Amino acid sequence: MINHIDHLGIAVRSIEQTARYYETALGLKCQRIEEVPSQKVRTAFFTVGQTHIELLEPTAEDSPIAKFLNERGEGIHHVAFATDHIENQLSQAAESGVRLIHDKPFEGAAGKLVAFLHPKSTFGVLTEFCMPKQECATH
Ligand code: ZN
Repeated sequence: MINHIDHLGIAVRSIEQTARYYETALGLKCQRIEEVPSQKVRTAFFTVGQTHIELLEPTAEDSPIAKFLNERGEGIHHVAFATDHIENQLSQAAESGVRLIHDKPFEGAAGKLVAFLHPKSTFGVLTEFCMPKQECATH
């Protein structure tokens, strides 16, 4: 079951410059900056209620975020839904005919298990499912 929007992923050219906007204009605090080598990105997290803003800065030219920036510029990159059972959520999407980017969840930022649905199947919105890792062990 999907419980809430966990985060919005926003593609940016510079975390430092973008963080200044979120901190100064919006008054939010940057929780942490973390590199995710598997995705070739640096991420910065801001908390808004139970939802986060995840800034994504590419660390390599062949990063998926670098490609996104080249094609579409800065802006919302993906929407992430928090689910209590990521495998079931993926099966449900696949059974309804949605193309998956990942059949199996993998470890994303903040130690969460994540997996993506293909934007061609989701009307243009790259969609992520995510689940805190510890919950996984209980299922
Ligand atoms: Zn994400």
